[in-house]
Amino acid sequence: MLAMLYQRTKQSLLAFLQEGSQHSADPSLQRKAVQLNIGVLMMQATVLAFTLFFFALGNEGLILSGLVQIPWSLATLVAVNRAQHAGHLNLARWFLMLGVMADAASALMLAQGLVIGIHFYYLLFAIVPTVFFPASRWRESLLQSVLNLGLFAFFEIHGWTPHPAMLNLGPETVHVLRVAMVISCVLIVAFLMIQAEYSAVKKEAELQLMASTDLLTQLPNLRAFRQNYSREVARARREDSPLIVGMLDVDHFKRINDVYGHPVGDHVLRLLAQVLSEQLRASDLVARVGGEEFALLMPQTELEQAQQICERLRITVSRHRFGTVSQPLAISISIGLARLEPGDDEERVLRAADKALYQAKNEGRNRVVLHRAGLA
Ligand code: GH3
Ligand code: MG
Ligand code: MG
Repeated sequence: MLAMLYQRTKQSLLAFLQEGSQHSADPSLQRKAVQLNIGVLMMQATVLAFTLFFFALGNEGLILSGLVQIPWSLATLVAVNRAQHAGHLNLARWFLMLGVMADAASALMLAQGLVIGIHFYYLLFAIVPTVFFPASRWRESLLQSVLNLGLFAFFEIHGWTPHPAMLNLGPETVHVLRVAMVISCVLIVAFLMIQAEYSAVKKEAELQLMASTDLLTQLPNLRAFRQNYSREVARARREDSPLIVGMLDVDHFKRINDVYGHPVGDHVLRLLAQVLSEQLRASDLVARVGGEEFALLMPQTELEQAQQICERLRITVSRHRFGTVSQPLAISISIGLARLEPGDDEERVLRAADKALYQAKNEGRNRVVLHRAGLA
């Protein structure tokens, strides 16, 4: 029962936070929509926490200042949520900003005055538009900042007469409330900034993974292979350790497509990717670098050892049944191997592995060929 309630609450909260992001395909705009919803929730939490605190203190002026904020806070919640739902994302941003400004103004003008420094919130509101507005709307964001700085300056200079009950607060209570006000401002800014940074980093990592992963097989793609290759070459040179590069190509793959169709060909490639990943060691890398071509990277490995591993790989693949039970399908692979030699440049090793693969094909396929240094 409790677990169900928890699940329900979690789902509604997640749905609330996502509201608005469904209208945009741009990840940064989606993020802004979520951040705006977080902002609205923080407004509710802040108003509620302070109002409860004010009730606990029992001061009439403070209680009034809490109560006048509640309609603003709820109206902002509804307005922002409805605007987000209808896809008016910019209107929603304005609703939140105007909502918080009116909320603070009502508490300040109707009850608190400047006694506990609620006008410091306008400094906070001068910073947060940069989180809610996209960079392309910098003019509106700037306008918000200017408006809020103006309000802060106005109240700071002009002052405001508080509710008479506010004057009954003892200096210690005023001190505590002022500190609470400043701390809440700092916490809100810190939370929004950390959340923005965290979601940006997460998105970057996702994009990075997408850009370096092959869609069909989920193996690293050519781009990822080149990155890893350069890094491993640098490391092999630094540590003076051996490095092997392999080029692997499926034999007569065109026939598989011709006989069984392209979708079956794709299925075979996916299964082959699995077999290759399973057979290689954790320190090795296998990437899909072309249609039915894969590249292998074996750090800290000597040529003979790499040859043994690749022989085992070749035999495993040739025995594996890639089709179904009723329609078994066998394939074979050819592999060319080359070793990074001292003074080698990166490209030569790749060419050497390609040459060895070519030789394997010429010698009849389904074999592993080593490129011997000094061989033309
Ligand atoms: P060999 O390498 O042994 O010389 O013969 P092959 O038939 O494998 O050589 P070739 O390079 O001429 O043909 C490769 C074929 O791989 C051609 C293409 O239709 C197929 N292919 C490339 N990418 C994909 C893919 O993503 N999915 C499928 N199903 N087939 C692909
Ligand atoms: Mg082939
Ligand atoms: Mg090929």
